[in-house]
Amino acid sequence: MESNIYDTIIVGAGAAGCSAAIYATRYAMKTLMLGGPMPGGLITEARDVENYPGFKSISGMDLAKNFIDQAVSLGAKYQIDTVSSISKVDNFFEVKTFEKVYQAKSVILATGTHHRKLGVKGEEEFAGRGVSYCATCDAPFFKDKVVAIIGGGNSAVEGAQDVAMHAKLVYLIYRSELKAAPLYIEELKKKENITEVPFTNIIEIKGDSVVKMIELDNPFNDSVALAVGGVFIQIGYVPQTDLAGTLGAELTKNMYVKVDAGMSSSIAGLFCAGDMNNASNLLHQQVTSAAEGAIAAQSAYRFIKTSPYLVKEA
Ligand SMILES: Cc1cc2nc3c(=O)[nH]c(=O)nc-3n(C[C@H](O)[C@H](O)[C@H](O)COP(=O)(O)OP(=O)(O)OC[C@H]3O[C@@H](n4cnc5c(N)ncnc54)[C@H](O)[C@@H]3O)c2cc1C
Repeated sequence: MESNIYDTIIVGAGAAGCSAAIYATRYAMKTLMLGGPMPGGLITEARDVENYPGFKSISGMDLAKNFIDQAVSLGAKYQIDTVSSISKVDNFFEVKTFEKVYQAKSVILATGTHHRKLGVKGEEEFAGRGVSYCATCDAPFFKDKVVAIIGGGNSAVEGAQDVAMHAKLVYLIYRSELKAAPLYIEELKKKENITEVPFTNIIEIKGDSVVKMIELDNPFNDSVALAVGGVFIQIGYVPQTDLAGTLGAELTKNMYVKVDAGMSSSIAGLFCAGDMNNASNLLHQQVTSAAEGAIAAQSAYRFIKTSPYLVKEA
């Protein structure tokens, strides 16, 4: 009779999770991939991806769909469930979603990151009512409006250009210097409807039913109040490592899961791949996440084949 226990359960269906699933199925492992709140992962927010080998240019959405399709076509079981907890019971992992409980010999966490919050007054109140964290997704809703983008890194600078295609005027507000890649900055400078507001923080978002203005810590054009119809917050990402942390996996001071070259965490049988771990020099990209997913699957395979407890109980 076929066992109900998976060889590996992969939590996350971004580049790392899908690549882990592709490699795990190639090792003939009984594999379940749980896609969670963002099937396809963060890349679904990217307009165009032009640095993933094999594609000169592809939308983030299409690339993510290809990843999932490939994992499923090779035999991985795929569910969109979100994992609420993971525990180790005897020598197996118990993976709970809000509706089901699964068992596995190994777990590969590939839960990525989430958008960093600004932490200012009005941010939560106006989320979805003018405050957005995804320029690519929400830019068309701000047609002919005046909009603020907060941040000076790649996602803010690229996001400002996305929004500028629809908005009348975009203020790009950042607290020190632009940290985006030179190519992005070069493109930014060509846009006539983007105004840079450097060395400035926003301290409050105000409005009625929707965002109407922001308050700055430095006057701009002689005023600390800036009338805007939308605020895009693009100030980086925070690793989603709650599940790993609760299991007792060792984390760095910035809350990434510590892994070795084989993507093994400090917990036997728990592997972590992609933007959530401290590998690949923290270069958070599709290509690094995919590579780490492949390595994690190989390590999980070796683990279930050599762990004395699992070999004995198989
Ligand atoms: C706007 C934008 C543009 C980008 N452009 C590029 C680019 O051009 N090239 C490039 O290489 N990279 C780009 N990136 C970066 C790239 O998207 C990330 O490096 C990559 O998505 C990381 O993959 P990952 O698999 O580690 O995590 P993610 O893609 O973040 O995937 C995490 C997965 O975990 C799932 N998950 C989380 N919690 C749970 C849970 N509790 N239960 C179940 N599942 C869960 C999520 O639903 C998701 O499926 C861009 C990012 C953004 C935001």
